[in-house]
Amino acid sequence: MLRFRVLGSGSAGNATLVEAGGGRLLIDAGLGSRELSERLLSAGVDPASLTAVLLSHEHGDHAKGAAAFSRKWGVRLAGSRGTYAAAGLGAESIAGYEVLEPFAPAALGAFTVRGVPVPHDAAGPMAFVVSAGEGALGHATDFGHLNRRLVDAFSACDAVLIESNYDAGMLREGPYPWSVKARISGGYGHLSNDDTGRYLEKGLGEACRVVVLAHLSENNNHAEVARFTADTALRRRGRADVRLEVCGADGTEWFDVGAMPVPRAKGPKQLRLF
Ligand SMILES: [Zn+2]
Ligand SMILES: [Zn+2]
Repeated sequence: MLRFRVLGSGSAGNATLVEAGGGRLLIDAGLGSRELSERLLSAGVDPASLTAVLLSHEHGDHAKGAAAFSRKWGVRLAGSRGTYAAAGLGAESIAGYEVLEPFAPAALGAFTVRGVPVPHDAAGPMAFVVSAGEGALGHATDFGHLNRRLVDAFSACDAVLIESNYDAGMLREGPYPWSVKARISGGYGHLSNDDTGRYLEKGLGEACRVVVLAHLSENNNHAEVARFTADTALRRRGRADVRLEVCGADGTEWFDVGAMPVPRAKGPKQLRLF
């Protein structure tokens, strides 16, 4: 059994805890080291027990606490060469750094991790497929557009955490300067609710039973809008078997991956007609 929970999501700091076979990984350390340690402890996890911290990219909301956390708890970091350089980790005292080559499976304790390059304005940004035993989680935040290699890499995942960063109308009408709006909505920025909906309708793998929407913008999105868009897309696809959750800034409870599908609360199970 593989399970995961989000400890923090959005511009205030991202971190996702994954657990399987007695081992634990963290994806991103975008909170301060002390805050991250406290959130792990309140989830019942000894920070020193982590196998590694995967870093998706060097932006502060993903890597801010990484070096201090690694140093304090003796936990190795892992990510692309670009992330290592751009986060300045060569100048930091850390417990170690595992370079993840694009698409190459890497064994980290009980886990197999594959890094998938994504289009984002960072040095070597990656999504991850984390698998252990029978379960696989696809984890992708911070990317400006969907491409075939990400869809393919996630096609056998039992659970997918994907960003649903902004509502296009709210971003357009909102207070950000035009240059920031252009960056967010550009091909190397973030996914809109509509982009994520398109993925769920056209690209989501048949094995997936849990979808978590993450990294919602505090200024340019509402959880209900993101959920409605994703839910509509899943219904169009006839995927009443998928549990859909929206992640707030403070994270989520545990999600079991590879467990029995959770039926939807209302309405009969939709029959597949074609
Ligand atoms: Zn981010
Ligand atoms: Zn970023």
